[in-house]
Amino acid sequence: MNSNFEVIIGLEVHVELKTQSKLFCSCSTEFGAEPNTHTCPICLGMPGVLPVLNQQAVVYATKAAMALQCTVHPYSKFDRKQYFYPDLPKAYQISQYDQPLAEHGSVPIVENGEVVKKIGVRRIHLEEDAGKLNHIGQRLGDAKGSLVDLNRAGVPLIEIVSEPDIRSAEEARLYLTELRNILSYLDISDLRMEEGSMRCDANVSLRPKDYTGSLEDLPRVEIKNVNSIRNVQRGIEYEVERQAELLARGERIVKETRGFDDQSGRTYSQRSKEEANDYRYFPEPDLPPLVLDEAFIQTIAGSLPPSTMTIREELKAAGVQPKDIEIILADQGAWAFWQDATSQYADARQITNWMLSDLSRLLNAHGDSFATSPVSPSNLVELLKLIDDGTLSGRMAKEVLDHMYQTKQPAHIVVKDLGLSQITDQNAITQVVEETVAQHPQVVQDYLSGKEKALGFLVGQVMKKTKGQAKPDMVNAILKEVIQAYAEKA
Ligand SMILES: [Zn+2]
Repeated sequence: MNSNFEVIIGLEVHVELKTQSKLFCSCSTEFGAEPNTHTCPICLGMPGVLPVLNQQAVVYATKAAMALQCTVHPYSKFDRKQYFYPDLPKAYQISQYDQPLAEHGSVPIVENGEVVKKIGVRRIHLEEDAGKLNHIGQRLGDAKGSLVDLNRAGVPLIEIVSEPDIRSAEEARLYLTELRNILSYLDISDLRMEEGSMRCDANVSLRPKDYTGSLEDLPRVEIKNVNSIRNVQRGIEYEVERQAELLARGERIVKETRGFDDQSGRTYSQRSKEEANDYRYFPEPDLPPLVLDEAFIQTIAGSLPPSTMTIREELKAAGVQPKDIEIILADQGAWAFWQDATSQYADARQITNWMLSDLSRLLNAHGDSFATSPVSPSNLVELLKLIDDGTLSGRMAKEVLDHMYQTKQPAHIVVKDLGLSQITDQNAITQVVEETVAQHPQVVQDYLSGKEKALGFLVGQVMKKTKGQAKPDMVNAILKEVIQAYAEKA
């Protein structure tokens, strides 16, 4: 990328709310059911039916709006957005247009634990999802046909529209990561991009340095429905390169919608972009305006969990490193585990280390998560206490953890079953050390003549003889004493 252009990115994120029923009818919202089994006259758009607003969806949307620092409007309304598409039986979507639920929020961009920038959230509105087309074939262009599944039609969505404040693919990644973090603590959506419960469209334009017009007038390309944060980043990177090359050749950027191809990492043209006036919005006549009273807004405000910045502060105060903070923060189960464990054990760094190294390795290998970990926080704490009191070496503790994971037993039971315990008896260790020294006079000489590495060999021999159970720092100390005595005798 050259410095003749500035990259301007705005993101539109759709999040499916995990209500039991759809936004305007009582059909189930469950994912993965047989096609067209979760439908009724309302979500099929039959004539003469009336929508009824789902209150839980309003609760969830309001929570999201507040957690994203938006102003929640006590008065908003629903509008019809008209367009024809086979997955939209009514030929209009009920959405919110000029008076959305909430506006003027922000999402922090966090680097190394610090807020380096805030990305504006222009608006959040409630709307219903469309159905889903299943194309027979690779993608729309070469499909042999398409099947319509209306189970998703009418599932509640919030659309979160950012201001065009994002300046790079990396910032887009950080914005989406933080947005997902914030929403995950509200427990209002599954947030699974691969299943489509969180979807992102990225608007990308390049602003020439000498451009003086408004951002709205810049030719904008929208990359539609990308299925992971990583792919949003890749799509933007590709699109920035593509547009820069076109401009460098003196060509014009065409305002259009493009898809993203995961395999090649490229975007491809889909259709020219509709303008808002093509949708012929008008107020939804079958629904009253959405009026939220002060008591409702106060109740929601009182129910919000701690913010992601508050959680970061708490982890930071306990001495957790920025990189590890982000890993724990991104997983609500990990945060709950960490809080539980550190409430029982003072050394938060040890807890963090064991969680993010050995326990994570086991969780990943078995497809588990902290929320479903077979090793509970108290069992991990018990294991750490066995290291502290000298019963186990660090190495032995790793072995014990493996067994705890498989058997779901607490540490002391596993230690007993494996017949493990660290040898901390001075006399027992001294005996093995003397034996080892006597067997390796040459190595002892090497050590005495300055080869520090020779000591490591002797330590290794002692550990082998004791099946790894001698306490390592004691072995080291005793070895040095015995060798000293040996040298004085010689
Ligand atoms: Zn229905």
